[in-house]
Amino acid sequence: MMLAYMDRAAAAAEPEDAGEAAGVAAGCAAAATDFGGLVSAMPAAVVRPASAEDVASAIRAAARTAGLTVAARGNGHSVAGQATAEGGLVLDMRALALSRRPQMQLVGGCPGGGGGGVDGPFFADVPGGALWEEVLHWGVKTHGLAPASWTDYLRLTVGGTLSNGGVSGQSFRYGPQVSNVAELEVVTGDGECRVCSPSCHPDLFFAVLGGLGQFGVITRARIPLRRAPARVRWARAVYASFAEYAADAEWLVTRGPGAAAFDYVEGFAFANSDDPVNGWPAVPIPGGARFDPALLPPGAGPVLYCLEVALNRYPDDEDKAAEEAVRRMMAPLKHVRGLEFAADVGYVEFLSRVNRVEEEARRNGSWDAPHPWLNLFVSARDIADFDRSVIKGMLADGIDGPMLIYPMLKSQWDPNTSVALPEGEIFYLVALLRFCRAGGPAVDELVAQNGAILRACRANGYDHKAYFPSYRGEAEWARHFGAARWRRFVERKARYDPLAILAPGQKIFPRAP
Ligand code: FAD
Repeated sequence: MMLAYMDRAAAAAEPEDAGEAAGVAAGCAAAATDFGGLVSAMPAAVVRPASAEDVASAIRAAARTAGLTVAARGNGHSVAGQATAEGGLVLDMRALALSRRPQMQLVGGCPGGGGGGVDGPFFADVPGGALWEEVLHWGVKTHGLAPASWTDYLRLTVGGTLSNGGVSGQSFRYGPQVSNVAELEVVTGDGECRVCSPSCHPDLFFAVLGGLGQFGVITRARIPLRRAPARVRWARAVYASFAEYAADAEWLVTRGPGAAAFDYVEGFAFANSDDPVNGWPAVPIPGGARFDPALLPPGAGPVLYCLEVALNRYPDDEDKAAEEAVRRMMAPLKHVRGLEFAADVGYVEFLSRVNRVEEEARRNGSWDAPHPWLNLFVSARDIADFDRSVIKGMLADGIDGPMLIYPMLKSQWDPNTSVALPEGEIFYLVALLRFCRAGGPAVDELVAQNGAILRACRANGYDHKAYFPSYRGEAEWARHFGAARWRRFVERKARYDPLAILAPGQKIFPRAP
């Protein structure tokens, strides 16, 4: 087998060189867990592929070896062991990205070529293990171009987010990341390397998008690019009423064609208190701005909401014009007057805003502590009830991290992808991004609370789906996808990974004997 580099857990047991053995053991230990820090599944080896052919060799070797599985690992930012392979091979996709020269390539032509709603004539060919941050810096610095659709945090890999969805405040307008791909190079579970797109092997293309790593390893993606904005006008506005918050957020994401619209709409719930993490201080931008609680209406409850919007600005835009456009779009909103904030920031700085959160969390130790996160898509039909029963009912004091809650549109998602979504056209991302602090609740309690939230969603009949689902056993997965989509998922698995070698950490299909 031609593999660029392989760390074998077994090699660590019989070391020829103690230093090397320690390195091998560390590589396997790192691949045994993830950002969630809740799962430990030791692989037999970590493979560092240098090419798609290396990926194919590893998968073919696994196919010849009874019981052996293969997990592509992006940046390991899953929270429930989805990129692990107990006793199997973990493919370190960052190695593939770092070994490719040039790492990214500009591809011209093909106007309108395939990405949902994307009109740019230029594309970036990027390795599956590239970080979105690397795509951003390369695109802006080298060509003045950038993708339209992002995640909030950019130290995630292209292959990792395309295997799930990839959402942020741009999703309502430009579609999620799975709607912003023109072509993929994929190594399927039979060890074949195939190039696919909406017009060439479309079934494989759409299976892989949101496919939880089940159908193939993404070794290259072709991402549509647009002219990169220079700056962003970024604004926040506070609401005491969820009904008013949701009505305004939904109005902003459903502006008809031709109407002025923001490029980014998000929002979060926060505690009506001076708690430095969960309360008022989480809101003001830029640094130094002050939240004046005296402006809140007298009847404000324990939970408040912050709408967050941004408008892209280009070098030739007039300064005043952007400010005026934002002012006009925000004028009809029903937020608490006086509790609005705005900042003018560079485009790259805006997209990199979560890096500051990471730096602070690394400093206080919470980055390396467990992250019992829960991400859900909840239909607009049920979001007010969800807010009442879960946000206000169970999480009113906050979760020591962001509680994102913002709407997006189902019509921006191609139904042929593998992603499972609620029924309604408007649905909310609810992201409970818990950080564990010293002296805070025990991790087990937080995991149990996530379970209680999921049970409440089911018991109350909310139209919802887990985003980054984590289930055990066929019955739970079948319920997640719904009968028709589950049938298609199973058929696609039989077509592209018949031995169920790939992504065993998702715990969907057992490896065929
Ligand atoms: P991994 O966790 O390594 O892998 C995830 C899954 O994809 C695994 O099943 C793995 O086997 C599979 N996989 C990885 N690479 C490939 C590949 N090349 N080919 C095929 N399968 C592959 N998500 C959002 O949508 N929006 C956000 O704003 C957002 N913010 C986040 C912020 C933080 C701080 C963190 C930790 C996560 C965030 N996420 C967000 C979630 C993130 O999208 C997921 O964690 C996702 O799994 C990507 O992470 P990764 O690249 O490290 O992939």
